Amino acid sequence: MIQSFIDLRSDTVTHPTPEMRQAMAQAEVGDDVMGEDPTVNRLEELAAEKLGKEAGLFIPSGTMGNLAAILTHCGRGDEMIVGHLSHTYLFEAGGSAALGGVHPFVVPNQPDGTLRLEDLRKAVREDDPHYPTSRLIILENTHNRCGGVVLTPEYMQAVGAFAREKQLKLHVDGARIFNAAVALQVPVADLVRDADSVTFCLSKGLCAPVGSVLCGSREFIYRARRIRKQLGGGMRQAGILAAAGIIALEKMVDRLAEDHARARLLAERLCGVKGLVVENPHPQTNMVYLRLEEGISIDAPEVSAQLEKLGVKVDWVDVRRFRLVTHYWVNDEDIHRALAAFAQVLRSFSPR
Ligand SMILES: *Cc1c(COP(=O)(O)O)cnc(C)c1O
Repeated sequence: MIQSFIDLRSDTVTHPTPEMRQAMAQAEVGDDVMGEDPTVNRLEELAAEKLGKEAGLFIPSGTMGNLAAILTHCGRGDEMIVGHLSHTYLFEAGGSAALGGVHPFVVPNQPDGTLRLEDLRKAVREDDPHYPTSRLIILENTHNRCGGVVLTPEYMQAVGAFAREKQLKLHVDGARIFNAAVALQVPVADLVRDADSVTFCLSKGLCAPVGSVLCGSREFIYRARRIRKQLGGGMRQAGILAAAGIIALEKMVDRLAEDHARARLLAERLCGVKGLVVENPHPQTNMVYLRLEEGISIDAPEVSAQLEKLGVKVDWVDVRRFRLVTHYWVNDEDIHRALAAFAQVLRSFSPR
């Protein structure tokens, strides 16, 4: 990826690696809607195997993967229990309501990304004609808005056990589940053992250009395949894309630890920049959240515009707040250049 700026806005900005481009050029393809694309089939099997599930389904985006899971688990008027800071609740354009008539019951996310079991217990509806029918719990791991934090296997299992007790389904929005597994040093399957379905993104830290995989039981994926078609997500010679996904899964997972180390370095050094408050000075994965100190007279969009002039792109998530994300195309030197740019921009605005 030849570019003159350092892009810390997201790990979605990652371009495919040269090896991926080569695999894409040479991919064997077929019509995937007819089930005839051998490369897609291979990706789906590989993903399912890694996650310890029976089957997988290649989906154009994480958003569509979550939506397909929700629509497969829930009918109209059913209720899904979600965190107030979850991606599904905040950033998926209300698709579950718009397209599925699924009602959200919103529970507070704790700072560690979890939903408290006692809050979940209170959220489950009794069987009463006044109420929607509780059907689904969604967990997010890593949790994006909570700082890229990891939810442990023990917690995931506890929620899984609770869901079973209440005869609810558990979906994991695992857009960055491999970041969680690498940070915790556990097999990814340990994190999703109790989940009825999981979505993960190939197109973020794993560098593939497009795509997510939804995994679950064979029966679940059979039904989800029809939903994907309804949503217009049935692709034809998608093996071109799946080929990059296979490399993502085989070659790009272990190296996520490097992104985490760079996020720690970035956070640690940003703590020393006057005018900034690092919200997670010890990031668990690849995200650093920070905000401008009270006395700083400029706001985040202005800081971000000035950083861009210095060749650094950052995502401001609020008028005083930023999110920085490390990824494959950010090296140590880029981290130091980004730090220098922050220091330069903030220097002139430090409170006296
Ligand atoms: C990125 C992301 C998604 C899905 O994103 P797409 O851009 O639709 O692929 C879902 N959940 C979380 C937590 C995410 O960060």
